[in-house]
Order: sequence, then C-alpha cells, then structure tokens
Amino acid sequence: MKLNKLTPRELSQLQAHIRGKTPSFYFSSQTSTVIPYDRIEEVLQEQGVEEFSLVNLSELPKSMHLDEENRLHVIGPVCWKEAKAFCHSKGRDIKTSPTEELASILAGFATSATGERCFGFGTLRDQVRELEYINHLGEISRLSAESLLAANDDLLKYQESYDKFKAFKNAPFPRLEKETDLLIGTEGQLGVITSALLETTPLEARSYIFIKLPRWEEDYQSHLEVFERVQSFRDRIYSCELLDSNSMDVLPPDERVVDEGDIIFLEVKSAAFENVYEDLISKFTTICEEDIFEVPAAKCAELRMNVPRYTFERNSRMGVVKKGTDIQVEAKDFKNLLDLYRKFSGLGIDYNLFGHFGDGHLHFNFLPDKSLVDTCQQKLEELYDQMSELRASPFAEHGIGIIKQKFIKKFLNKTHYRMFKVLKEEHDPENIFFPNGFLSLRE
Ligand SMILES: Cc1cc2nc3c(=O)[nH]c(=O)nc-3n(C[C@H](O)[C@H](O)[C@H](O)COP(=O)(O)OP(=O)(O)OC[C@H]3O[C@@H](n4cnc5c(N)ncnc54)[C@H](O)[C@@H]3O)c2cc1C
Repeated sequence: MKLNKLTPRELSQLQAHIRGKTPSFYFSSQTSTVIPYDRIEEVLQEQGVEEFSLVNLSELPKSMHLDEENRLHVIGPVCWKEAKAFCHSKGRDIKTSPTEELASILAGFATSATGERCFGFGTLRDQVRELEYINHLGEISRLSAESLLAANDDLLKYQESYDKFKAFKNAPFPRLEKETDLLIGTEGQLGVITSALLETTPLEARSYIFIKLPRWEEDYQSHLEVFERVQSFRDRIYSCELLDSNSMDVLPPDERVVDEGDIIFLEVKSAAFENVYEDLISKFTTICEEDIFEVPAAKCAELRMNVPRYTFERNSRMGVVKKGTDIQVEAKDFKNLLDLYRKFSGLGIDYNLFGHFGDGHLHFNFLPDKSLVDTCQQKLEELYDQMSELRASPFAEHGIGIIKQKFIKKFLNKTHYRMFKVLKEEHDPENIFFPNGFLSLRE
C-alpha cells in the first residue's frame, strides 16, 4: 500500500489535493475515540487499500470573529477552548461544550459532537446557521440551515425512519433535514468543512452544585429522583452530569472531591440560583442538605475533563482499546438502562459510569485487562441487541468512525443503506472522502 501524509498550510493546497482524487482521510485534532489513530495504517492495509492519503487539517490558517448578530464565524481548525475564550472576551458564550476542548469545532460538526450543555441548549446541529466545505471537485460550497434538503422518495422514507429519534442528540444515522445536515454527523465522508457560522448566547455567571449520592449499583433511588425533577429546569440549569464512584477512582487521590459514593453536578445559571434552590434542591426527598455543596467552576471543569482522559489512559496502560458505549434513552427507559448497566457491574470486571445524566445519556466503560476483552465485547454486543429493540441511540456522541461500524449495522435497514449509497454517489462519486467510513457500509 502506498500511504501519503500531507499537512496543507493553505486552503488552495488542500483544494489541489482533493482535485488529485486520491482516496483520503482528513483529520483535525485526532481526539476521536472511534478512529484507531495508532494503527490506522494497519487498518487500511487490512482493507486492501492500494493508495491512501492521511491529510492533517490542523495547520490550515484559522480565525474567528463575531458578526453583527453575535454569531461566531469559525474559519479553519479553531478548537472549543479557543472559541470559548474568544467568546468570553466579548461577553458571549458558546452553547456546546464537549468534554475534550482541544477537539476542533469543524470536526465537531463532522462528528455531530454534543456535550454537557446539550441539557440546557440543545444540539450543536441546531446551533449552526451556515457551513462551508470543499466538495469532490475541490470547490468551496456553502450550505444554509435555512434551506431544507430537496425531497424525493428515498429522502422522505429516510426522514420517516429518523422521526422516532427526533428528541435524541444523535440517532444511529445522521439527520437529513436541512442543507447543513449533509456535513453534520457524516464524518467527513461528503467533503471537508472549512468554516461555520454558529449561534452564541450572552455570557452569564454560573454556579456548580454537587450532589453526593450512594453508589448507583447499590441504590439509585435518589439518582432517579434527581433525573425526574431536573427535567423541567432546562431553562435555568445548563448541565446535569454524573460521575460515579468508579469514575472518581480513576483520578489521582488529590483530584477527587468525595471519598465514596457518586456525584451528580448541576451547572446552574447564577441569576436563577435562589429559585433553583427553592424549587428543586430544597424539595429533594431522598437527599440530605449536607450532601449538597458548591464547587468552583475550574475544579468542576478539571473533573469533567480528567475522568474520560484517565479512563482512556487506564485502558491504554492495560493495552486495550476502549470497550464502552454511550447510549442515550428516552426518560421512560432510563431506569431500564441503569438496570442493564447494573448487570454489567456484577461481572467481576472493573468499569465506570459517567456523563450526561439529565439527558439520559451515559458512558459506560469496561476497564478490563487483556484477558477479559472478549467477554466485554460479547457483553456489549448483547447490550446493543437489547437496545435495538428499545427506542435508544447506541452512540449519542463520538460517532461511528471505524471502531463502531460492527455495532451500528444492527440499527440500520434497507432505507438507510439506500440513502447512504445515494449520498455517496451524488456528493462523492469517486469515493475520495474517508472511503471506508460508515456511508460505505452495505446490507
Ligand atoms: C477525553 C475525551 C472526551 C471527549 N468528549 C466528547 C464529548 O463530550 N462530546 C463529543 O461529541 N465527543 C467527545 N469526544 C470525542 C471527540 O473529541 C469528538 O468526536 C470531536 O468532535 C473530534 O474532534 P477532532 O478535531 O479531534 O476530530 P478528529 O479526530 O481529527 O476527526 C474526527 C472525525 O471528523 C472528521 N473531520 C475532522 N475534521 C474535519 C473537517 N474539517 N471536515 C470534515 N470532516 C472532518 C474526520 O474525518 C473524522 O471522521 C471526546 C474524546 C475524548 C478523547
């Protein structure tokens, strides 16, 4: 196999490469957990690819500015951390907050990134007004969120199958409703995104309330109380996140905020704090007031960032690829999901559970040693079988990439495969954009 590596420093270089028609994988910050970056060459070789380019987009020129309507115009590989700092300096804030802040915003569209603030602000997909991308001819095209995709029989059938997932952050397949959806969640398989126009919100002071709870494996009564009650506070609470006791255990001792039990934390609009306290916090019947305390924003951010990082590191240390999932379910199925995870907790394999609790969207990670990897794989496959019967989204963030392809097939049918084929034929007829991605899966 001939493998080329390219780091364009100008857009024109990137366009010239695309016009050359070499099948390529375009990446930004390489934080995806579903692309095996450490063995991508091996994977390509296994797939019998003859020539391939890995194109690093992270050195392209980048800039950002706020327009007259306070929308953030992002050009090039700006990361979430930079965008947040820029907006804060102008009295504005971004509405999406993925845990990995070094990931690029434009890649965030490609993976339909979500994060803790989805609870209060909804999905990134609905915050974008315009996207620009380089198409298969090497030309820059513009897509608007104001325009719907042109309807035809294939699209209408596909949209009908999407309907039952409308309330989810991400369905098992991309939403195809607005023009901008073409490049959202399609993981760079239809073109390379070069800029975006994104809604922002006024910067407001926030307070971080921590609630100490028993371990969910032993008693989840108070978890369920928080879950139910918090739903009607989405206008005042931006995030509602869980870090279970096992998540705390992956951290170095000096970074832990409690010695035992789970934590749910709420990011509350400070101006609404009194009201949230009176109408929500003081009314909990299963939680004592001494188990509720405030934590500084920086400490909270550090915890959120470090739990997935240390989880990832622990797996790397054990020489295993992440064996976990991030299922989102409807509120009515949330208890069932916890029950399924409870069964996993009794297998004698280390694990942790954390994530976007208020949205019914949790990351369950096995932390196995090498000898237990096959058992974890089998258990996850059984779980996905059960999930495909419920209305659940198996990968509500992080995407499909290469690693999750073997699981996603359970959630797809003829309508989806047909649409994927139509999309590729229309937008990438030579199959030059991430040719081995999920849009190339066939029944
Ligand atoms: C510790 C940790 C925490 C995480 N937390 C979250 C989270 O809260 N929410 C979440 O959604 N994800 C999360 N992720 C996953 C990851 O950060 C996201 O998927 C992110 O969007 C990837 O961005 P990136 O710049 O690293 O993309 P890369 O890994 O470089 O690429 C990812 C995909 O996007 C495509 N792509 C990249 N740039 C472009 C472009 N300009 N145009 C078209 N396609 C492109 C690539 O082809 C690839 O398919 C986390 C990952 C880690 C390691």
